[in-house]
Amino acid sequence: MNMSVAREHFEPAGAWAAQGRQPRIAIIGAGFSGIGALIKLRKQGYTDLTCFEKAEKIGGTWRDNHYPGLSCDVPSHFYSYSFEPNPDWTHRFSYGPEIWAYMNKVADKYEVKRDIHLNCGVTDLKYLGPQWQLTTEHGDVEIFDLVIAATGVLVNPAYPAIKGLYSFAGLQWHSARWRDDVSLQGKRVGIIGTGSTACQIVGAIAGEVAHLDVFQRTPHWLNAMPQKKYSATWRFMLRWVPGLQLAIRNFMRWLMEYTFARATLGDEKQQQRVQDACEAFLQEQVPDPELRARLTPDYKATCKRMIMCSDYYPALQQDNVALITDRIAEIVPEGVKTADDKVHELDVLLLATGFKVSDFILPTRVTGENGLELAEFWRDAPRAHRALTFPGFPNFFMLEGPTGVFGNTSLIDISEHQIACVIAIIDRMKQEGVAVVAPKQEAYEAYNRAMSRDIGKSTWATGGCDSWYLDATGTPNIYPWLPQRYREDMLNPDFSEYRFEQLPVAVS
Ligand code: NAP
Repeated sequence: MNMSVAREHFEPAGAWAAQGRQPRIAIIGAGFSGIGALIKLRKQGYTDLTCFEKAEKIGGTWRDNHYPGLSCDVPSHFYSYSFEPNPDWTHRFSYGPEIWAYMNKVADKYEVKRDIHLNCGVTDLKYLGPQWQLTTEHGDVEIFDLVIAATGVLVNPAYPAIKGLYSFAGLQWHSARWRDDVSLQGKRVGIIGTGSTACQIVGAIAGEVAHLDVFQRTPHWLNAMPQKKYSATWRFMLRWVPGLQLAIRNFMRWLMEYTFARATLGDEKQQQRVQDACEAFLQEQVPDPELRARLTPDYKATCKRMIMCSDYYPALQQDNVALITDRIAEIVPEGVKTADDKVHELDVLLLATGFKVSDFILPTRVTGENGLELAEFWRDAPRAHRALTFPGFPNFFMLEGPTGVFGNTSLIDISEHQIACVIAIIDRMKQEGVAVVAPKQEAYEAYNRAMSRDIGKSTWATGGCDSWYLDATGTPNIYPWLPQRYREDMLNPDFSEYRFEQLPVAVS
């Protein structure tokens, strides 16, 4: 695929829409969003599609994460593509391998794997007006009319800045780089972190290890995960009763958003209901007042992402499990040394310390108009127009981009709505012979001003906690209104917010 590209080669070909030809579309990333984009674009008649995937398999989060206990706390019938409902989900909340298998099955059914280049990371994207020059890690260079980044949010592991981290003499790995080749049976294991990931891991491995030390920096609010195995009769009904799956999907969506989105976005009664439920759950699950006190957060529920996990508290109370709340002083070859000078000796140290959430497509170098670098554009904090486009980066879209709807909801549902918006924009380019589309600077600024004004009312901002939702400026980098509003905006884009140009712009 090595192509040497001369400027003359693509300049006249730039205005795909004016020439009545198919746009060449690059999609970066083959997780749920990228595969959804491939399917929906093809269905809309856009066939010149190339997807670049840096890994050897498709799957995104559900490929990278395969730790014990991995499941999704969004109900299965909502955590699926709307166009591919699955009556065969075995549980109300699906386990990781089943989700990954579903994604593969959908990709096979719609024959999109032929469009995907595996082991092909994109290192560089350069806007040459009106096209993009894409360079892969192999040094191949290709030209595309449109680029859709579907690279995800929770992608790059965050390694904690703890003194001596790499001095540990035993085995150590991040939750998103799970070592399937190492058995934890009978080992002394430590885990740093008590977020959604750690809770699932602790619940799954506590019965297997000799001893487990759980290092908690901050307690998190938890609620039960009302897991349920679906019966064969139920699955039969889902398959054959018209409208039943859709009704369940819509109900689950309403329930998630009614419960969590409202609680976070200023509905104080709903926040109190969630708070009460978490407190009651802790009280009921942890009878020992001393342990309960150590597990009680001093901030509001829904400030950090709500954790739904039923086996974490029981696991913590097993004889072979200890909750360590002393501050970690350093990692030493034998294990973890806490501020009380005690060394917790370990064979394996697990890092469930989350992700670098400000990266998005970075470290891929993205250069827009007039040499503007995306990393520079995001210098203070990553921002976007409607979590999808960027002024100065024409013909470039990012699914699940900054300030997206990242709360307790289905990211598949959100990215499907974004894809609908991208398609509406491309359709308009096609109808009107448009070569360049980008959000107007003033529209981007007005949108971000409105967001900054309203995000301050959410419990992400007022709840009194630190979380991965906060960016370097301390502002929640997340959508401040109800998800329903976002979906409506995506389905009815306001084209006056975008600059549509019919002629190629000058090259920088
Ligand atoms: P996370 O929520 O960011 O939690 C990271 C944990 O590591 C926190 O407990 C944090 O403590 C701790 N930590 C980080 N640096 C530390 C340090 N230097 N010293 C001590 N502790 C440190 O990450 P996550 O659990 O991987 O979850 C990330 C997101 O993934 C979730 O919020 C969710 O959106 C998604 N997820 C979803 C599911 C699901 O069921 N759908 C499952 C897993 C993950 P502090 O709290 O003190 O910062």
